[in-house]
Amino acid sequence: MAAQNEKVVYWWRGKLYGELEAPPLAVPIELVEVEVAEWVCPRCGGKADWAPEPRCPKCGERCQPRSFKEVLPELPDTVEALERMLKRVCGAVRFGGAVELEPSSVLSPLFAWEPLDLELPDGSRLIGAYAGRARFLKAASLKVGAFPSESVVELPGDLCLVVWRSGFVECYAFECREAGKVLELLQRA
Ligand SMILES: [Zn+2]
Repeated sequence: MAAQNEKVVYWWRGKLYGELEAPPLAVPIELVEVEVAEWVCPRCGGKADWAPEPRCPKCGERCQPRSFKEVLPELPDTVEALERMLKRVCGAVRFGGAVELEPSSVLSPLFAWEPLDLELPDGSRLIGAYAGRARFLKAASLKVGAFPSESVVELPGDLCLVVWRSGFVECYAFECREAGKVLELLQRA
C-alpha cells in the first residue's frame, strides 16, 4: 500500500533512535505505514499460514483474511545509507564511485585504511575508512614493476569507505567537507 504519515527515525547498529538521542553517524530512515494481511480463525482467533485454503492450525475452521496497518522502517541500500550518514556530519556529500577490491579486483589500493566494523541497515558492514583520495594501482603494472601515471586509477573524493557486502569487499569514494571529522567519529563509534 502507499506510504502515509512518514516519519524520520535514526538507525544505529540495528536500533532505531529519535533525532535528539541518535548518535552522530546514525542513518536517517523513514518509517512507512504499510498494510499487512493475515489469515485469522473466526472461531478461536488462531492464525493460519498463507495457503490455497487457509485452515486454522488449532481447530480446523476456515480462516478469514484480515488486514491491519504496520509501521516499518524503509531501509536504504549501502551507498544511500553511507550518503545519509555523511550528510548528517558534513552537510553536503557527493558519491564519487566504487571499485571492487576483493575477491577478484585488478586494482590494489595505494592507501591504508583504518579497520572498522560497523553494521549498515542493508546487512553489509563498513570495515574500513580512509580520509584522502581513493587511488589504486592496476594489477598488470604491478607485475612489470613499472609505475607510470596511467597505471594509477583515481576516484573523485576525499573519503574512502570500505564495505563488505555479500562476500565482496568494495571501496566507495565520497566528496565531503569533513572527511577528517567523519574518520574521527568512526574510530570512536
Ligand atoms: Zn480456530
